[in-house]
Amino acid sequence: VSVPLVAALDIGGTKTAGALVDTGGRIRLRARRPTPAGPDPEAVMAAVRAVLAELAASPLWHRAGAVGIGCAGPLDLAAGTAAPVNIPAWRGFPLVERVRRAAGGRPVTLAGDALAVAAAEHRWGAARGLGNALCAVVSTGVGGGLILGGRLHPGPTGNAGHIGHIPVELDGAPCACGGRGCVETVAAGPAVLERALRSGWRPSPGRDRSAAAVAESARAGDPRALDAFERAGRALAAGFAATAATVELDAAVVGGGVAAAGEVLLAPLRRGLAEYAGLPFVRRLVVLPARAGTDAGLIGAAALALDVAEPGGP
Ligand SMILES: [Zn+2]
Repeated sequence: VSVPLVAALDIGGTKTAGALVDTGGRIRLRARRPTPAGPDPEAVMAAVRAVLAELAASPLWHRAGAVGIGCAGPLDLAAGTAAPVNIPAWRGFPLVERVRRAAGGRPVTLAGDALAVAAAEHRWGAARGLGNALCAVVSTGVGGGLILGGRLHPGPTGNAGHIGHIPVELDGAPCACGGRGCVETVAAGPAVLERALRSGWRPSPGRDRSAAAVAESARAGDPRALDAFERAGRALAAGFAATAATVELDAAVVGGGVAAAGEVLLAPLRRGLAEYAGLPFVRRLVVLPARAGTDAGLIGAAALALDVAEPGGP
């Protein structure tokens, strides 16, 4: 029996990954190219085309009925364009139309990478079967996507659920988005690292300066490392409580590289929620670790493509 597949593209600032994924969320074939830096959108598109060409060379390609693209935001879904902060070449580039042509006219779905992860967690992961969930991706930045009423909720331009830019500190630090005191300024990897360094934490010999090294020290009981994660967890908790109060959530799913710290982040997050979530309908929110691992971006892009074929999941 030939199982239907979808093609997935995960376009990041440094690499463009592609895959053919089956309806169970399993990757059947991979391809990847570096994402060229610089101002030429056609150079970036050439990398995307090369990834698609490698997938199309496979005998599996004819089974792929649709293409899903997860891309760093912000996006303009109405125009089919993405304007990733880290791919400046792409302002206004007609990504959807160009990929559709490169993929032999197959239908193409574009979404932000965090919304793609939300689609994957809803279809196959921690949010499976839930009607209302926020999926947060805590990494170099903090992104997120919403499931409302059992469906992905991209919002009018595709950016809804962007938990990273909820202000949680009234007089907080300026944020890359132009705002101030956003969740991202406290909970993103660079913010965790910076807070630890400012308090005098240093990586153990042979380790790099990274949020992962701070997490390692926190697990070993270092109070400065623990404090940095305490702060990150509480910022996420405040953002989750705000979202739950606004739209009512069953769960918040937490994934991304920084969330790989596990309980070091999740424990203060849960304590923060116990403090910030007051009303019963807000308190009912549970925090769940994401299931999708390092392939979350690709699996997410596949889930997006499947969402068009069968909205709301299998
Ligand atoms: Zn911001």
